[in-house]
Amino acid sequence: MMIEVDSSIGEGGGAVLRTALALSAVSQRSIHIFNVRAKRTKPGLQPQHMHGVKALAELTNARVEGLGLHSKELKFEPSTIEGGRYRVDIGTAGSTTLILQILMPAAAFARKPVEVEITGGTDNPLAPPIDFLKNVTLPMLRKMGYQGEAECVRRGHYPRGGGIVRAHIEPAEKLQALKLTEPGKVVRIAGVAHCVRLPSHIATRMAHAASMVLIKAGYSTVDIKAESYEPARDPHLGPGAGIVLWAETERGAILGASSLGGPGKPAEQVGREAAESLARQLDTGCVVDRYLTDQLIPYMALADGSSEITSTELTSHTLTNISLVEQIIGVKFEIEGQLGRPGMIHVGGLGFARRL
Ligand code: AMP
Repeated sequence: MMIEVDSSIGEGGGAVLRTALALSAVSQRSIHIFNVRAKRTKPGLQPQHMHGVKALAELTNARVEGLGLHSKELKFEPSTIEGGRYRVDIGTAGSTTLILQILMPAAAFARKPVEVEITGGTDNPLAPPIDFLKNVTLPMLRKMGYQGEAECVRRGHYPRGGGIVRAHIEPAEKLQALKLTEPGKVVRIAGVAHCVRLPSHIATRMAHAASMVLIKAGYSTVDIKAESYEPARDPHLGPGAGIVLWAETERGAILGASSLGGPGKPAEQVGREAAESLARQLDTGCVVDRYLTDQLIPYMALADGSSEITSTELTSHTLTNISLVEQIIGVKFEIEGQLGRPGMIHVGGLGFARRL
């Protein structure tokens, strides 16, 4: 039977589309999505969503109806998840990591390893920065048996794009549940502050400002790298800057926070924003940061056994993702806490097994 998804629920943004498609692909069940991005000023499919749908259709040998610009209704009928090499060129600064968000769950259950190269933006607003994916999302997913790596070949920022990300995902028979509710002490805070087509002091100033905040907050081991390029050897298409920080705790939690640079925004402010967000989240004593929480929901639902995490903040993204995942794959989450506050999330996973 076809899964029916009203994509105007909750946020009504791209996240519903991505999660719904990803789960349809994993479970190899057809899906009908309507009211696509209904609440947005430019409703319907935007170019970056179309690239995501096309890439997933290729990975899952799917038949797609309604794949047009501004389309508000989509039918997606996946068949086998073959694996192999794929290439996606978004053509704009659209987010490469959001394309990976669509592909990653299905890629884990493919017949063969998946190698994908995506051209677009690597450090976008409202999307996971590539350093967050590499150093927070993937290491936490690896604790669940997800075997994925990502590499940033070249950065891309708004509006020029041109960033290149490569990901390699090995098949997994099943994902394991994640039970992590107490972080224990922070053993180290690491980070990357980058700037491209900009003077190198921007990266060092962001790193320094972030370190100062964290040291003042009582963290002694702080190691933030500054990444910059000499003008003659800078391969990037346009200017951009940002910082990603992550804290590793003695029980194995990794929490991240980030901030993006922009015209007229002092480097110190960028560094401080990320550090203050990380410090605030660490103060809650929870193990998963506010962004990773919504990203983990589909994996917890698919995993084998009972997962339990504490989250620094229950966002509307997380709550929307939970109700969507419950509707599509029929698991039941238990949530303690309120919107905008720290909370606990529990689910008995489906124990989804790879089909050959
Ligand atoms: P949407 O706003 O519906 O397109 O979804 C955005 C996705 O990007 C969600 O999965 C968020 O967790 C993720 N995201 C947005 N901003 C950040 C950030 N600063 N760091 C990490 N992930 C982010």
